[in-house]
Amino acid sequence: MAEISHVGVIGAGQMGGGIAQVLAVAGVKVHMLDVNTEAVSRGLETIKKSLAKFVEKKKLSPEQQQAALGNLATGTDYDALSSANMVIEAATENLEIKNAIFARLDKVCAQDAILATNTSSISITMLAGKIKARAPRFIGMHFMNPVPLMELVEIIRGLDTSDETYAATMALSKRAGKTPVACNDYPGFVSNRILMPMINEAVFALMEGVADKESIDSIMKLGMNHPMGPLTLADLIGLDTCLAIMEVLHRDLGDTKYRPCPLLRKYVAAGHLGRKSGQGFYKYGS
Ligand code: NAD
Repeated sequence: MAEISHVGVIGAGQMGGGIAQVLAVAGVKVHMLDVNTEAVSRGLETIKKSLAKFVEKKKLSPEQQQAALGNLATGTDYDALSSANMVIEAATENLEIKNAIFARLDKVCAQDAILATNTSSISITMLAGKIKARAPRFIGMHFMNPVPLMELVEIIRGLDTSDETYAATMALSKRAGKTPVACNDYPGFVSNRILMPMINEAVFALMEGVADKESIDSIMKLGMNHPMGPLTLADLIGLDTCLAIMEVLHRDLGDTKYRPCPLLRKYVAAGHLGRKSGQGFYKYGS
C-alpha cells in the first residue's frame, strides 16, 4: 500500500482536533469535519493555540507551525473525503452516531481507503460489520488524551482487519511520532478495561464518603505515583465519555462489577462533563 498522504478526521473535539494536529505536523494533508461550522471553528482554534504553545516552548519552529496549518483543511462536507487514503473517526462515543458516520463514509470514500475509529471501547468488529465489504480495511486507532503530548496509540484489529491495513496504520502512527501497541478487540481494549473501572471506583468512593475528592486524588497520585488523580483524569477525559465507556463494559462483558456509578450518571445528567464544559468534579476557569 502506498504511503498515506491524505487523512480525513471526523470530529473536531478534543481528540479529533489533537489527531488532526499531530498528523498535520507530520506532513500529512488533513481534512477535519464536524457537524457544524461552530464545532469546526472551536476545534481549529484549539489546534492553533496548541501549535502556538509548541512554538513558545521551542518544540516547533514558526515554519513548522505554518506548514502544519497549511496541511489542515476543515469543513462539514463529507465529499471532501472522496480522495482521502484514510479516515479516522473521533466523534462522540455513541454507537448510533458512529454507525451513521461510517455509513456516510462508505458512500463517499474510495474503495481502498482505510477507515479507522478512535473509539474508547466500542467493538471494532461490530462497527466494521455494518459496512462488511470494508471490514479488511477497518481498524481501531485509539489515541490518548491529550493527543499532541501522549506517546501511545492503541491499535486494535477487528476480526477481519487485513495485515496490510494493520501495517499501514502502524506506519502512520509512527510517522505521527507515536508508539503504536497492538491488542485484540474486546470491550475497552486494554487501556479502558483497566483504567475505567479504577475511575468508576474512585467515583463510588466519593459517593460513599470514603474521602473528599481532593483526598481521593492525592492518595492515588502520591501513593501510586500516578501523574494525576482519577477524578482529575475523569474531568480531563470527559465524564460523558467515561460513562459511555462504562456502559459498553457493563453491557458487553455482562458483569455487574462494571456498573457505572450513580454519581457519575448524575454529573453527566447535570451537564457537568469535566474540563470541556467548565465543571466536573472540579471547576475550571473559562
Ligand atoms: P468531544 O466531546 O470533545 O468531541 C466529540 C466531537 O464529535 C464534537 O465536536 C461533536 O460535535 C462531534 N460529533 C458528534 N457527532 C458527530 C457527527 N455525526 N459527525 C461529526 N462530528 C460529530 O469528545 P472526545 O473526547 O474528542 O471523544 C471523541 C472520541 O474519542 C470518542 O469516541 C471517545 O471515546 C474517544 N476518546 C476519548 C478520549 C478522551 O480522553 N476524551 C481518549 C481516547 C479516545
